Amino acid sequence: MRVRFWGARGSFVAAGPQFVRYGGNTSCVELTEGEHRLILDLGSGAIPLGRTLPGKRTHVLLSHTHIDHIQGFPFFAPVFNPAAKLVIHGPRGAGKKIERVLDESLNPDYSPLYSLSNLSAKLDFQHLGEEPLVIDAFDVTCAALPHGRTVSWGFRVEGGTGTVAYLTDVEYSPQGIPESAISLARDADLLIHDATYTPDDYPPRAGWGHCSWEHALALAERAGAKRLALFHHAPDRTDDEVDVLVAMARNAAGKGTAVIAAMEGDGGVVEI
Ligand SMILES: [Zn+2]
Repeated sequence: MRVRFWGARGSFVAAGPQFVRYGGNTSCVELTEGEHRLILDLGSGAIPLGRTLPGKRTHVLLSHTHIDHIQGFPFFAPVFNPAAKLVIHGPRGAGKKIERVLDESLNPDYSPLYSLSNLSAKLDFQHLGEEPLVIDAFDVTCAALPHGRTVSWGFRVEGGTGTVAYLTDVEYSPQGIPESAISLARDADLLIHDATYTPDDYPPRAGWGHCSWEHALALAERAGAKRLALFHHAPDRTDDEVDVLVAMARNAAGKGTAVIAAMEGDGGVVEI
């Protein structure tokens, strides 16, 4: 399986020369296994990804519908391609079906597109639940995890050559990491995990729904993940500061877990 990060930033887009190495786009990850492709989240990174996609069926998993995870949707090239079919597996928003959340995001107060009915692609909305999914070459396990006052869905994606776990926008209670998170990450070849904060940043932001690299590493080690990709970088964290954060995590990691920081572009591709 090939993992490419098209957006590794959290909360909002980071622009400027101090963000070019890790990239400034918000969450979007592309998994490919041979001919098959699965996209995780549609943050602004989905905009450059969309330009590379052929007009055929594409599956997307949405962790949740906060703006940094769907803001690429109205600019995602396949939605304007009548030959494209998009299958969007998404959770309910605050009591609303996923198609209603995305439809409202296009209303004329926010977008010239007005509604989903003006998009050319065939759209198929599937509601996420706890039941496992088989999507082309990928076996997917889903679990709702705590994210502040709401939830974010974590995914375990098993392909022919390995397993990727994607847990972003999560925060664990002081009582510990939930078993559902550990199960998703168990023996994963790559765990992509929220690492918005450093341990020093975190205490005044407890309850905001995000983790520090220390929390991410604790889960990686507990679950026996082979590699940990720190993800959802704080939007004001410069490239040099991400380097420092990774170095801290590497120093703290035991021998069993290699630590990297998710990075946009060819330099950040991970082969499993
Ligand atoms: Zn986010």
